[in-house]
Formats: sequence, structure tokens, C-alpha cells
Amino acid sequence: MSALHTVATRQLKRRLGARVDVSAAGCWAASFDSSKISFLPVAVITPRVEADIGLVLVLANKYRVPVTVRGRGTTLMGSAAPVRGGWVLDMLKLNRVVIDADAGMAHVGAGAVTADVQRAAATQGWFYPPDPSSKEYCTIGGNIACNAGGMHGGKYGVTRDFVIALRGFLPTGELVQWGTATKKFAAGFNLRDLWIGSEGLLGVVTGAVLKLIPQPAARWTLLTAFTDEVAALKAARVLFRARVQPAICEFLDRESVLCAERATGQTVFPGQAGRPVILLELAGTVSEVKDLQREVLAWARTQALAYRAARNRAEVEALWAVRRKCSGAMFELGDAKLNEDIVIPMRNYEKFAKFLARLKRDSQLPIPTFGHVADGNLHVNIMYHRANALETKAAEAAVQQLMKTVVAMGGAISGEHGIGLAKTPFLRLQHNPAQVKAMLAVKKALDPRGICNPGKMFSVVRIWKFPKLAIQLPWDHK
Ligand SMILES: Cc1cc2nc3c(=O)[nH]c(=O)nc-3n(C[C@H](O)[C@H](O)[C@H](O)COP(=O)(O)OP(=O)(O)OC[C@H]3O[C@@H](n4cnc5c(N)ncnc54)[C@H](O)[C@@H]3O)c2cc1C
Repeated sequence: MSALHTVATRQLKRRLGARVDVSAAGCWAASFDSSKISFLPVAVITPRVEADIGLVLVLANKYRVPVTVRGRGTTLMGSAAPVRGGWVLDMLKLNRVVIDADAGMAHVGAGAVTADVQRAAATQGWFYPPDPSSKEYCTIGGNIACNAGGMHGGKYGVTRDFVIALRGFLPTGELVQWGTATKKFAAGFNLRDLWIGSEGLLGVVTGAVLKLIPQPAARWTLLTAFTDEVAALKAARVLFRARVQPAICEFLDRESVLCAERATGQTVFPGQAGRPVILLELAGTVSEVKDLQREVLAWARTQALAYRAARNRAEVEALWAVRRKCSGAMFELGDAKLNEDIVIPMRNYEKFAKFLARLKRDSQLPIPTFGHVADGNLHVNIMYHRANALETKAAEAAVQQLMKTVVAMGGAISGEHGIGLAKTPFLRLQHNPAQVKAMLAVKKALDPRGICNPGKMFSVVRIWKFPKLAIQLPWDHK
């Protein structure tokens, strides 16, 4: 720690008292996120009121202390790990949730847990659709900073589509508010959208006004199995071409199904062991769902090898529980995973399935893949054993090949996890020098001293070379 950081931390402690934790245990707990790479901060600050954050940022600018904002630390990209040390701002105490049932809006603190917002909205007949699988843990601030998605993305959209207004601090410590609690706002530049997905590099979100939609009255779930991955992804394309929009449309390849089945002891589709599947949920009014049901069944008859509607809500819940476990279940295939949340344009679905088959063959690694086929956001999981040098090299080569192919196919290197530290080697595949320069100019304009979340997104780091903590997080196998 530099002498300047010591002076700054002492000053902060004098002003905020117990809200500043410099203990070894506190700093260790804030040193990593779900990427499990660890960098120790010098203090963890838990603001109780907004003004605490302004003070932190003013002092950080004065003494050039790096500040990393932290929600729950569920990001898999290393974006909440304080790579340059300094201070961590823990937002969990700013967790108020107030539902405006007349307007269909939620007024929330950045530290509110996503599932709590959904539950509070549901009690008033409203629905907040963004649903990352980590929703029981992650925060709205983290969702906004990463533009989080989830299974409902294809029909309803991602976090960005539900943010009406934001409040928080510029990196230099001034309080700002982008938008108001109105559904229309056309006054000035839209810096709200600049903050969404900026991974804590352009400011600190303290609160948000979120859009809610009416709770769907009816739901219906269908399981479909296919001969192979190419047939499954082609079928998804055919479904969307018919203008059918399921609320959820999840694809699991053969390897993902097998992992999930072994981990849970449950069968995804009885009688279709080890086949790739698409799990669909329709949602809407009773008559909307009935109309769509007819179209979906006609589609399944022509496209799927087998199909079956879920019989009751308990079966549906069991199915989604198995789906949520498939990510953690993959660790039976290796102790290390490169989890790539890429996006593929629908026109290239079959081409991408063929590419994946080649990638598995050439790398000799298991690469279970699952994801949201309604929006092309597939989770490609390159599994390997860290202690095996050959496998590690093959994984590194496979991820390079994957990213180049995704960009060449007109896709995105990340659909919902962001760049953080893990994807920094690939940012320049997605963005040309002019685009990177424009992003850096925005960063410089808002954060001239480079205080907020330094070391992320732009400086190239090969995260898979870092040692990882051997710890189990509460959400690891969810
Ligand atoms: C099991 C599991 C399943 C997951 N499933 C999904 C999924 O389905 N979809 C999906 O999109 N993601 C998923 N994720 C990734 C992760 O949960 C999301 O990115 C989530 O939005 C992170 O929220 P958090 O509160 O944990 O943020 P953190 O991990 O603490 O932080 C993430 C980033 O946001 C910044 N940040 C946090 N709060 C603020 C704030 N108030 N102001 C400014 N910046 C802030 C941090 O600095 C960091 O850069 C999953 C992760 C796990 C472990």
C-alpha cells in the first residue's frame, strides 16, 4: 500500500468510522468474485447513505486511490476483483425496494437483490423479467453494470430494457440522476444507457427506477428432443421464423444434458437420454398461450424427434431446477472452465453447431454448450484440468478460435457477462481501434484520474493464467 493510500484510508476511517473495514478478513472477502482470482484491497467501505459514496470518491480522487464497486461478487469475469488494490465499495446495504403499483415501476437501491425485486413486484401483480440464474444473490446494481440477461431475454429483453432512470455518482464524486420516474424522457444526452453495461468504470449506481410489466396469467411448458445439435438449432430458427416468441427457449446440447442428469439424478426428458433438447415456456394471457400452443405443437411435430408438455407446475419447476444446475454440473468434466457467453446471429445457428463439433474434435476437450436460443446467447464451456499442461494449452487455443469465429459470424464475444478481466484479450476482436479509442475517450472524460475499476476491460490480461482460490461459493452449484 502506498503512503498516500494509508493517509487517505485513515482520513476515511475518521469520517465514516465502522463503515470502513480494514480487517484482514474483511479485505480478503472482498478480494475476489466468482472468477475466484484474488487481489487484496486496503479497505472495504459499506455505505449506509448516498453521501458516504460521494465522500469516498472525492477522497479517492484527491489521493488517487482505485475504487472497485461490488454488488454480490457473482460476476464470472473478474470485474469485481480489485485488481489494483485500493478501496472496495460494498453496496449491499443500499437495498430498499418500493413498488409503485399504479405506475408499474420499482424504485430500488443498487444493493437490492434481483429476486427480492421480482418477489416484491409479484405481490402487486407486476413482473420484473430479467432473471440471471444468480438472481437469488446478485444485485440490481451489478445487473445494471453488466447489463445482465437470463432466460427471459429473447421475449422480454435484458436489464437495459427495464431501466427507466438511474441515480448515482460520477467517478469524480458528483451526484447525478439520468432520467426521472416517467416512461418518456427526451431531455439531453442519454447517459443512463452509457452507464448500463459499463461495469463500474464510469460511475457508481446508487439507485434505479425499473419498468415492470403485468404478471402473465398463463404459462405452458414443452420439452423437445432432437437427433443432434444441428437439428436442434435449425428447429429454433424455424420456430422464430414462424413469429412465435416463447417466454423462455433454452437449448442444452448432449453433453450439458448428461452432466445435468448425472449431477441431479433426474432425467431431463424421460426416454430421450442424452439427446440435445430445447425447453420452451409460453407465457401471456390464457387465450394468447392457447393460440401459441397450437403453433408450437405443429412446429414440434415437424421438427423434433420427440416432444412432451410438462404435466404440472411441480414438473416445470423440477425441469428449470435441472437446467439451472447444468453449469455447475460441468465440473465433473474438468476442474477448470472457460465460460464464454457468446452471441450468434440466428442465420448462423447450424454453421455454429458444426463449428462447435469441429472445435471439440480438434481440441480433444469436452465443450458442453447450452443457452438462450431466443436471442442467440449461448454459453460455451471449455472444460479442462488446470494441472494438465496439454489440456490448458488446448483450452487457450480453443477459446481464441471460438472468439475469432464468433466475430467472423457477425456475433458478440459477450451477451450478458461483460468483459471484466476475463475477456480483455478479445475486446479488440470485437471493436476496431476507432471504437476502442472512443470508449477510452468517454472513460477519460468522466474519470480523468482513472479511479473507478481500473485495470478492467481495456488492458489485456490472460485470466486463465492466474492461480484461483480453492473455495466453494454459495451459488457455485446452482
Ligand atoms: C451461478 C451463476 C449464474 C449466473 N447466471 C447469469 C445469467 O443467467 N445471466 C447473466 O447475465 N449473468 C449471470 N451471472 C453473472 C452475474 O451474476 C451477473 O453479472 C450479475 O449481474 C452480477 O451482479 P452482482 O451484484 O453479483 O455484481 P458484482 O459481481 O459484484 O459486480 C459486477 C460488476 O458490476 C459492477 N457493479 C456492481 N454494483 C455496481 C454499482 N452499484 N454501480 C456501479 N457498478 C457496479 C462491479 O464493479 C463489477 O464490475 C451468473 C453468475 C453465477 C455465479
